[in-house]
This record gives sequence, structure tokens and C-alpha cells, in this order.
Amino acid sequence: MSASENTTFNVRVTSTGDVFEVPANRTILHVLFENGYEVPLDCSNGRCGTCRTRYLSGNVDHRDTALSESERSEYLTVCVSRAHGGEVVLDLPAPQSTQPVARPIAVVDAPVCVACLNCVRFCTFDAARIDDELIGVGGIQGAAVIDKDLCTGCGLCAAACPTGAIEMNINTHDKVISTIHALNIESDSVDSESTTDVSTVEDVTSVMIFACPQCRETTHQVCEAQNRFTSQRTHARVVEVPCSGRVDTLQLMHAFESGADAVMVAGCQPGECLFNTGNLHVTQRVNRIADWLDNCGLGRDRVHMMHLTPGDDENLIDALTNLSKTAAAKGRSPLHQLSATAVPTSTSG
Ligand code: SF4
Ligand code: SF4
Repeated sequence: MSASENTTFNVRVTSTGDVFEVPANRTILHVLFENGYEVPLDCSNGRCGTCRTRYLSGNVDHRDTALSESERSEYLTVCVSRAHGGEVVLDLPAPQSTQPVARPIAVVDAPVCVACLNCVRFCTFDAARIDDELIGVGGIQGAAVIDKDLCTGCGLCAAACPTGAIEMNINTHDKVISTIHALNIESDSVDSESTTDVSTVEDVTSVMIFACPQCRETTHQVCEAQNRFTSQRTHARVVEVPCSGRVDTLQLMHAFESGADAVMVAGCQPGECLFNTGNLHVTQRVNRIADWLDNCGLGRDRVHMMHLTPGDDENLIDALTNLSKTAAAKGRSPLHQLSATAVPTSTSG
């Protein structure tokens, strides 16, 4: 539905009495965040239900695909649902501050943009476009720009940008790389502490798993269980990403270069991605990394793309067991001792 078909309405917050107008071209989410109210978010497009908020009254226009009919009598998703005019009363706690809350969005550094259109093609929310008035790399006419109101913060464009012109405002590329390094260092220290006279760090298989919002709970549970099962000698660590499609080739390479013996990406089943195509794009990147692993003699079977149904512990345990056994048979990755400390500032698709 286009913004021109939307109605302006008000939201009232019971805890504070605050009343805000929600114009036709904004969402309840935008207005709440701008006024300091923070609501948990994942997809920002009505598919996951993470931002469900209790409402006490109002003629709500439910536009999500996440809530059941019975849930809709009590909750609405603030990211997409609206009202048919009038006022919606929300049951939200008072904010910690009246300062605007940042929500995840992509930002373009125009002077680094080559106007390749990758971001326009990868964005399934029409948030990315080329602005002919902007000046791109080397003074070329035209550079990408992101409509922050349409952006869901999925990061598909950032992963696809060949020049690093796109950065996420919150979970920046450097932050993801730092997390990868920190988890691998933590994994090494746990390995050292838990080794015994008969087992050494060399017996351990360190697995790094990138997990999207729909897969993260299952992945965390399985990893915690697997890490306790010491005879397997697998230590699995989870890097949470906004979408599996946010995982770029540099992040995958850093996982290996900072010590992982095997890497898995856990994304949704085809057709189930919260951001439509992220899980398909990352599958291609995983295949490219498999080729790279072959070329440098590490073996392509150290990396695995897992299309996971949330809650399907059994298949994830099987896949993780197979991956760690395969990696264990090859021995620790030769890159394990070469923990890189430099953090790159550019990304690649
Ligand atoms: S972060 Fe996602 S929604 Fe936002 S511009 Fe990039 S691809 Fe589009
Ligand atoms: S993908 Fe990067 S370089 Fe290409 S148009 Fe978008 S911002 Fe510019």
C-alpha cells in the first residue's frame, strides 16, 4: 500500500500521556523512536512480529503477516500496522530519555560510490536509488542514496557494495569484524583452559556460525549443548547478524583468518527470508569462499550454508556435527595461529 493511501492518525502512550501524530508517510515505529521510545526490532517489515506492542484501544489497520487473529485483538506491529484515523492507545513503558533512538539503517558515503547499482538491485524495499545530483567517486555524476524511512536495516546492500561505500549506522562492518575476532580469541582461551593431559588445544575444532534473527535462538541453544558435549571437542560461537544476507565475503574470510577451523552460515529456508533474498545471496558468497578455501589448500568442506527452519535442532545438530567432524579430520586450520589484528574498513560482496 502506498503512503498516499495511508491515513494520518494519533498514538497515545498510556504511561506518559504523550500523544504523537503519525503522518501518512511515517510509521508508528518511526514516531516512537524519534521520541525516545525503543521497541525491539528485527525485520521492520511486518514479517517477524518482534516489535509487537500491546494496544488498549483504537481502530487498528493490521498490515503484518506475523500475528494471528487472536494476537491482533491485543497486539499490533508498530513497524507496519496503522490505524483507520482517530487514536491508538499503546501500552508502553516511559522512555529512558526523550532523545531519539537510532534504528538500524544503511548510509552511503557518496564520494566512494561508483554508481554500480548493486545496492539498488539488492534492496527489496526500494530504499536505495541513484541520485543524479550527487557526486560519486572521482567526480562522476550520480551516487547512491538510501531512503531512511524505507530502509529496514537488513544490510544486504552493504554486503553487496563492491567499494565499501555503504555502512550500517549501528552494526558497522568494523564492529562485526571485531566481534568475529573477539569470539575466536574467547574460543581459544576456553580451549586452553579446558584441555587436559590427554587432550590438547590441537584436538579442539573451533566453529563460527553466523545466524540471522530467525535462526539465532535455535543456533544458540544447539551451540551451548554442543559445547558442553566435551567428547566432541567442538567449540561453536555465534555471530548474530540482522540477515544472513548481511554476511559478506570479508567477514567469512575473517572468521577463518582469526582462528575458526570451520564456518557455517545459518539462514532461513529459501522463500522464508525476512528480507526476501538475503539467504540466497549469501549462499553464493559461501560458494565463493568454498572455492577460495580449495585454492588455498584448506578444503571447501570447512564452510557450510545451512538453510534452517527455526526450532529444527535435529538438522542443525547433524549439520554442525558433520562440519566439525570433517574439519577435525583435516586438523586445525593452518590459519589458526595467524590471528589477524588489523581491522579492514572496506567490504566486498
Ligand atoms: S539495509 Fe536493506 S532495506 Fe536498507 S537500503 Fe540496504 S538493502 Fe535496502
Ligand atoms: S553498491 Fe555501493 S558503489 Fe554500487 S551504487 Fe550502491 S553505494 Fe554505490
